[in-house]
Amino acid sequence: MAGQSVDRWVVRAPAKLNLYLAVLGKRADGFHELCSLMVAIDLYDTLVFRPASELAEPVQLRSNVAAVETGDNLVVRAIELLRKRCGVPPEPLRVWLQKRIPIGAGLGGGSSDGAATLLSIARRYGLAVSHAQLVSWSAELGSDCPFFAAECSAAVVRGRGEQLEPVPLPRQLDIVVHWPGVHVSTAQVFARVRPGRADQRQITALIDALQQEASVEAISRLLRNDLVDAACAIAPPIARSLSFMRDHGLAAAMTGSGSAVFGIAHNRQEAIHVGQQLRRHLRGFVTVVRNLG
Ligand code: C5P
Repeated sequence: MAGQSVDRWVVRAPAKLNLYLAVLGKRADGFHELCSLMVAIDLYDTLVFRPASELAEPVQLRSNVAAVETGDNLVVRAIELLRKRCGVPPEPLRVWLQKRIPIGAGLGGGSSDGAATLLSIARRYGLAVSHAQLVSWSAELGSDCPFFAAECSAAVVRGRGEQLEPVPLPRQLDIVVHWPGVHVSTAQVFARVRPGRADQRQITALIDALQQEASVEAISRLLRNDLVDAACAIAPPIARSLSFMRDHGLAAAMTGSGSAVFGIAHNRQEAIHVGQQLRRHLRGFVTVVRNLG
């Protein structure tokens, strides 16, 4: 049915957290080799697509956050990629992007929006392209896109993000996410980082701890993010948020290159309580989430 006109449709794009992020060295392409455990969470952006043959331009992106209405937004780039490669969508599209995931926070919102766009347009127009092919194309949009395009709830991610190993994570974690209201540039954070070594035993131990009923304290000892010192040097509120969560008994770490911080709580009630305390004492955006099962 490629080429056929379709009605308006809606998709949700989840955020992610990096429970483990080792930076392993700089590659010839200038990017850093990573080894990470990524987990999708129930904090979503919403995208509304509407074919609009009256539009002069191929895509019109509008959002509740004006700053994301740009031509290099991954939503626009995903549509351009599909149009160039497959001639789909055959008609101009209006896209409404309802942002709930803070931007520039290490929560993967932009990448998730791009991956959701790629998948949903391919499906909506009945494109004869395999899911694996779409995941591979999504790597051209951004390093975090293959994780979202793969639609797995948790994965060990290697390389620049294109090598994925899905991990079953049936345990529901109660997590507080705090974005301290500061933006940090990913490029600036990576420029300051000193690559370390991957510890295969540590990431395996973390996955085991998450799959079993290990204590929050045990999980806390296994969380890792090699970008945290560089990010805290650029934006001290990240360090304050981490200390606040740890002082309240949570297993806390930064996600991605920051600036959002998360804390795994012992239960939902504790997560909500610490969330309330964070709202009272620190600036920024706070939400309580669970990982997607
Ligand atoms: O993936 P993204 O476009 O957000 O990356 C922004 C910048 O962060 C890159 O241009 C690069 O300088 C740095 N980066 C890196 N290694 C990665 C991901 C990002 O050096 N794996």
